[in-house]
This record gives sequence, structure tokens and C-alpha cells, in this order.
Amino acid sequence: MVCVLLLGPPGAGKGTQGQLIAGRLAIPAISTGDIFRSHVAAGTPLGQSASGFLDAGDLVPDAITCAMLSERLTEPDIQAGFLLDGFPRTMAQAELLQVMLAERGHELSRVIELHVDEAELVTRLSARRVVIDGRSVQREDDAPDTVRHRLEVYRRQTAPLSEWYDSLGLLSRIDASGDVADITERILGAFAPAGDVR
Ligand code: ADP
Repeated sequence: MVCVLLLGPPGAGKGTQGQLIAGRLAIPAISTGDIFRSHVAAGTPLGQSASGFLDAGDLVPDAITCAMLSERLTEPDIQAGFLLDGFPRTMAQAELLQVMLAERGHELSRVIELHVDEAELVTRLSARRVVIDGRSVQREDDAPDTVRHRLEVYRRQTAPLSEWYDSLGLLSRIDASGDVADITERILGAFAPAGDVR
């Protein structure tokens, strides 16, 4: 069982690298942001409770997020493992994840923290376009003021997790600027000493 976490601020490339790394490890990439956005688009009750937080660039409350994630981890496709992109984002979520993994007799393989200069993050996010209903648009939360707020939320609520995972000996800090394929190789290299990648 390979359990990989991707940490990093908005715009660091968690979504892009998450897909590539999960593909190489033959495990699903689970993005809490994507799950929330698909619920918002489908107008489900979960989407209705989450949408205000997403638009404001705030975190969805832990109770809602944790319930969603724990349900996702009951699906059968995670037997060989999974990669989490965007979870955990608070200490409470990180603690819950430890409990969920321990209950199943699993542990984290590695936590990858993607590093990019803040100026580059802002440039990347303001240039980012996503395809919704066949149209290329800017994500509502990629507007400049909301980006600044999301970076602040990351610094305050999520960045402390990296110290914690580092103290557990699980953290690999990766330079996530430059060529996408090079970054993927750097990330895969972080697994090599532990022998997790065959
Ligand atoms: P980014 O990393 O670029 O901010 P995501 O797609 O990962 O983008 O997240 C978008 C939004 O989804 C967040 O701003 C937040 O509102 C919500 N979200 C995603 N994951 C979580 C989480 N683990 N806890 C709380 N809210 C979350």
C-alpha cells in the first residue's frame, strides 16, 4: 500500500504533479478540491455547503471535509494505495488521517512538499485557465484578491503541517519550479531511498 501526500501552496502544481505521480505509481490521485468542485457543479447538498468557502478562498470546515474524505477512502480503487492532493490542510485533518490509516493497518509512505516562489505562484494562478462546460475560464478563486487570501490561509493553517511531517521523518521538500517532467522525476527520486517505487 502506497500512501502519498502532496503538500504545497495554491499554484505549486499539486494537481498536475498529483496526476503524473499517481499514474507512475498506478494509484488514484484524490483531489479534495476537485471533489468539492464537482459537487458544486452538480448542485449536491455537499456542494451547496462548500461553495461559499471555495469562492472566498477559505477552507471548507473540517467536519465536512473529513466526512467526505473518509467516505472516498471506502471506495475499492484504493487497494494498492492512493495519493492525496489537498488533504490534509489543517492539523485536525492530519490527525484524523493518521487515525483512519492506523485503523486500516496502513501508514504514510511519504509526504511531498512542493516549493515555488510566492511571486511565481501569483503569476501562475492569475494565468491559469480551467475548462468548464467546454469553455476555458478562470477559476473564481484564482482572482487576485482571493489568491492572496488563499496564500495567507495556506501559511496560517497548512504550512505548519510540514514541520510535523518532517518531525516524523516523512517529509521531502521538492523544488517545484521549472520543467514539469523534471519536477516529476525529482518527486519520484524522493521515494527511492525508502524503496517504495519499483
Ligand atoms: P489550491 O491548492 O490551488 O488552493 P484546491 O483545488 O486544492 O486548490 O482547493 C480549492 C478549494 O477547495 C480550497 O480553497 C478550499 O476551499 C477547498 N478545499 C480543498 N481541500 C480542502 C481541505 N482539505 N480542507 C478544507 N477545504 C479544502
